[in-house]
Amino acid sequence: MSENTDNFEFYHQYKTIVEHAGEAIVIIQDEKIVYTNPKCSQLTGYTPEEIMSTPFIEFIYEEDKERVMRNFRNRIKGLPAEKEYDFRIVHKNGSVRWFHIRPVIIQWNGKPAVLDFLVDITERKLLEEKLKQSLAILKATIDATEDAILVMDNNRNILSYNKTFLKLWEFDEDDMSLNGYELMEKIKPKLKEPEKFIQVIEQAYKDIDKVMKDLFELKNGRIFSRCFYPFKIDGKIKGTVCYIKDITDSINYEKELKKLASTDPLTGLLNRRKFLDILESLVQKSDNPNFSLIMFDIDDFKKINDTYGHHVGDMILKKVADNVKSVLDENSVIARWGGEEFMVLLIDSNLENSLDAGKKILTSINQIQYNSKFVSASIGITKFLPGETIYNLLKRVDKAMYTAKKTGKNKLVAL
Ligand code: GH3
Ligand code: MG
Ligand code: MG
Repeated sequence: MSENTDNFEFYHQYKTIVEHAGEAIVIIQDEKIVYTNPKCSQLTGYTPEEIMSTPFIEFIYEEDKERVMRNFRNRIKGLPAEKEYDFRIVHKNGSVRWFHIRPVIIQWNGKPAVLDFLVDITERKLLEEKLKQSLAILKATIDATEDAILVMDNNRNILSYNKTFLKLWEFDEDDMSLNGYELMEKIKPKLKEPEKFIQVIEQAYKDIDKVMKDLFELKNGRIFSRCFYPFKIDGKIKGTVCYIKDITDSINYEKELKKLASTDPLTGLLNRRKFLDILESLVQKSDNPNFSLIMFDIDDFKKINDTYGHHVGDMILKKVADNVKSVLDENSVIARWGGEEFMVLLIDSNLENSLDAGKKILTSINQIQYNSKFVSASIGITKFLPGETIYNLLKRVDKAMYTAKKTGKNKLVAL
């Protein structure tokens, strides 16, 4: 075979390869396309004639023109240019398609030219765009939650976290390049019970397929609930998502509600319901309950209200509560029974002690003055009798108090 025949064979073999290539192939010289393969027409919608008769830059999407041109010119001149990159071409039908190229300099008809293999990556770009969007939504969602979130893999590398997590532990982005073990060391000094905190993490990793919940407290007194939740990919556990919620306020709120349900808002004393609860548990729980009751009612209180106004009446009620409380010891419980009536429980007290307490109560009330008159009260005292009902006991102390009222007020009567 002659050399010419060989060349002819080669030419046809290469032509076949290039024309059946899965990528668009173009050769650009003097900013014009001087060679294009059928795939290029298929991907762009333009005929080879259209492709070859138009400056190549006109096919490029407006925003990418500058970058593509700069790279092309630099490459031809031997200046630094991007080795490979992505850009967009406007299809003949107006749609925009993404391509990836890795251009090389070749000699073409004795002059330098750029050979480009264009891979259509439109589908990949769309997926990437969708993924980026989903990730942005996910990140915004986890950042918006008031729970602190940390995601770690099975080796305790940190995969994700949110802003609340950073805020909770006073971490910055740099801290998050640490792994779970190293983060733990930084968290430890802030915890009230670090050993317990770590134990639960170890347990969560041991039973990684289970949801684990617990509470922990910081040294600053704030209380948190924590939940470890396994996360899976294709059914396989890849790590754990940890949610941490500050529950201090809701715990305090519950405590406050409980307190409100058992106290009288005006005087801050226990209310009738709470006082009855205490009486009942005292009678039920102890074998031989030993206590006394003092009931007192302010004398002529209606007159005070009518003469000086309700607000003065309120002030006097508060003062009575404060003064009486100040003369009682820790074995006593005082409550506002209702209106201007109060009840005092004296634990481990005989009648003599109770009379002393009653006298102190009356003296403390008499100290309150308004318009050069002093406040007085009628006081009933009685001792709990073994086996009797609370109803009976209350009836008796009420009777004692009314006897004091009927027989002159500002005095004590024991029954
Ligand atoms: P007595 O010496 O017989 O006890 O006469 P009194 O006027 O104290 O008793 P009475 O039961 O006639 O009147 C009690 C008054 O207490 C009537 C009611 O309006 C008033 N009162 C009840 N609760 C409050 C309160 O929270 N604030 C004020 N300012 N007055 C109250
Ligand atoms: Mg009264
Ligand atoms: Mg009364």
